[in-house]
Amino acid sequence: MPAATLPEEGESLVARTLRTGFPWLRFPAELEQEFVAEYRLSRRRLVRIGVCLALATVIGLAVLDRVLIGANAHGVPDVIRFGVHIPLVLIAIVLTSRRYYRWYWPFVHFFAPLYGLATVVLAVNAEGALTSYVYARLMIATFFFYFMLGLSFRAALRTNLLTVFGFVSLAYFGDMSAQSAIYLTFLLVCANLYAGAGCYALEQANRVGFLDRRLLREVATHDGLTGLLNRSALEGEIHRIWQQAIRDRDVVTVVMIDIDHFKAYNDRYGHQAGDACLRDVARAIRRAAGSRPSDCVARYGGEEMIAILPGADREGGEQVARAMLAEVAALAVPHDRSYTQPHVTVSIGVASMRPERDSSHDLIVRIADRALYLAKEQGRNRHAVLDEADLGEATVVLAARELRTAG
Ligand code: GH3
Ligand code: MG
Ligand code: MG
Repeated sequence: MPAATLPEEGESLVARTLRTGFPWLRFPAELEQEFVAEYRLSRRRLVRIGVCLALATVIGLAVLDRVLIGANAHGVPDVIRFGVHIPLVLIAIVLTSRRYYRWYWPFVHFFAPLYGLATVVLAVNAEGALTSYVYARLMIATFFFYFMLGLSFRAALRTNLLTVFGFVSLAYFGDMSAQSAIYLTFLLVCANLYAGAGCYALEQANRVGFLDRRLLREVATHDGLTGLLNRSALEGEIHRIWQQAIRDRDVVTVVMIDIDHFKAYNDRYGHQAGDACLRDVARAIRRAAGSRPSDCVARYGGEEMIAILPGADREGGEQVARAMLAEVAALAVPHDRSYTQPHVTVSIGVASMRPERDSSHDLIVRIADRALYLAKEQGRNRHAVLDEADLGEATVVLAARELRTAG
């Protein structure tokens, strides 16, 4: 769903974040939440492949240990393998199924460090001529945490630092020779630098891609001059609101706003001043419409705007209309060619309905348009309201209007 409107002044949060950057791979809270949700959803298959590969690797290593290392492969390695690695990976495979996926994310934050520390114990306990092969697992684990589990860079870094710390503690205070311990620590740090840099760059690119897509959507759904939703986005929103109201048997109110004598304003003050006036009026309308996330305010075309208020009844619609008239009056934009007031004013049509099943939202928009016409007829700078009960009257008004147009 597109954001109802862009911010009152200047850039949107998305545009600002793209321009200023995001230190330490973190967006402002609201965007961060959306990014994480979208990222997790899009990663399910990759993460599932990652944990299946981990299972294949653990089984492959068990076979190799038995064939190449023989007796040394039993004892601690078996406890780690069958007691920690395989159960953890099997649980992760189940949790990456569609049904349990939401549990994967809390689990992975516990799974990854535990898996890392178990690998450290495995490496430190390796004996014999082939132990360097066992140490190589630590390198694989490093890359696994950075790239295969869907962890953020921060979470992967935390896991890997814990693994390095675990290795250093066990290696230096255990039986490992100082020579091997220093060498392996150096290799682990190098692996972290390379894989960490790659993981950071990947997440940075993912985040920029997310912001780019968001910005594109904002540009496609908002009107460039007023920052309100544009006509095509309005169609989607009003359809959605209407269908929801049918399901909930709830009332919907539509408020249609038109600037009075705007052609005369352009003629008198010029088109650029007209644009600035339209922008100011749009902001005033938006302020008055309130900030319920379910409401939607759009530019309907030219100097006409529309607000869709789900759940608001006739009274609520009238209240919003009065607030809009007051906000526009408070702007006090001079208009000496207006026959209504020496400043810019608007006329407003309000329509309120409880939609019937199989009905179309076109109806309420047409009724709001008729109410707007009534407000113009009654002298402008005011609102008129029609609802289901007034449908007959509205039809008469429409007929009169159509006759006049034809004449
Ligand atoms: P009424 O009180 O009956 O609404 O009179 P009006 O002059 O406002 O109505 P009309 O529909 O005749 O004129 C609308 C004008 O709005 C015509 C057009 O020049 C102007 N307009 C529409 N879109 C824009 C815009 O984006 N910028 C500017 N500056 N003017 C616009
Ligand atoms: Mg007008
Ligand atoms: Mg108009």
